[in-house]
Amino acid sequence: MNTTTRYEPYVGDALADDAEFIAGGTDLVTLIRGGLRHPTAVVDLKAGDLSVGVTTTEDGWRIGAGTTLAMIEDHAELVASASVLSQAVAQAATRQIRNRATIAGNLLQRSRCSYFRDEDIPCWLKGGTSCPARSGLHEHLAVVDQGPCITTQPSDAASALVALNATVTFEIDDASSTIPVAELLAPPTEEHRRLHRLPHGAVIRHLDVPRPSGPSTYLKAMDRAAWQFALVGVAAVRHGDDVIVVASGIAATPYVLDAVSSTLAGDWSDDAIDRAAAAATEGLSPGERNGYKLPLLRGLTRRALDSLI
Ligand SMILES: Cc1cc2nc3c(=O)[nH]c(=O)nc-3n(C[C@H](O)[C@H](O)[C@H](O)COP(=O)(O)OP(=O)(O)OC[C@H]3O[C@@H](n4cnc5c(N)ncnc54)[C@H](O)[C@@H]3O)c2cc1C
Repeated sequence: MNTTTRYEPYVGDALADDAEFIAGGTDLVTLIRGGLRHPTAVVDLKAGDLSVGVTTTEDGWRIGAGTTLAMIEDHAELVASASVLSQAVAQAATRQIRNRATIAGNLLQRSRCSYFRDEDIPCWLKGGTSCPARSGLHEHLAVVDQGPCITTQPSDAASALVALNATVTFEIDDASSTIPVAELLAPPTEEHRRLHRLPHGAVIRHLDVPRPSGPSTYLKAMDRAAWQFALVGVAAVRHGDDVIVVASGIAATPYVLDAVSSTLAGDWSDDAIDRAAAAATEGLSPGERNGYKLPLLRGLTRRALDSLI
């Protein structure tokens, strides 16, 4: 494998099919060491002009793609006015990893399904013919049926960014595009066996996060107190009397719980919050081993809504 710090020649040009960008490396290096990725070249984005830091804009904040999770966690304005995001990143991994991991890399990280991470198992997401998790170990996996694969989306920040209506701007072939984070992160399909729709060779430049008009929170259930991916997470953002609630740990995407918002319908009474939390699990379809996620999701949704009154 050639390691290169050359960067500019690749931006605007096609990145070779078998090459990869690297930012903090906390996911990509694990994948290479685990025998899951075999890039012939690794292009270090940090050696180029990757933007790092959070700036205040007229409508909210612009977060450079190379901003670390720790920088977002510590950003005073985000802590005060978009706590859903600072809380989500603060509960990801460990501080040591958050000092290195970038926000763009966090959105693009690969599945954490144990079958996917096992180089000897040709699961569907890696190009195989079927998903062994469906009849196997799926305790940590999806309770929403979105296709052949039942992985969950591992990023905590992703749910917070979707609840904040954030957008992502990327560049490829000298052209820049801006799309909602909710569109970037899509369930894998036959043609795209990935958890995102970023074209190969595109570089994420920044995220734009609109300032929410109300309070927000991110709650996360893990099977130990730290350094774990979400069993279930709930990002909730109040926009006036309305609320957007997005779940982590239950689908291959951040999963927008529309039924919670429509059931609440601007009524923040105790009874309405009870009904809205109960609606969080409408239409979900757990397997034999992960039904426990449903009461967890209702409970976290209840607590999240309570905290926004
Ligand atoms: C032990 C451990 C525990 C973890 N726990 C959690 C957790 O609880 N919650 C959570 O959300 N995450 C968790 N993570 C994941 C961690 O947050 C990600 O590994 C990290 O955010 C990835 O960022 P990075 O900069 O290191 O990405 P890299 O590993 O450098 O890259 C990841 C992918 O993104 C691509 N990429 C990166 N930047 C760009 C860009 N600007 N443009 C285009 N492509 C780009 C790379 O090509 C690569 O495909 C955990 C990781 C570890 C190792």
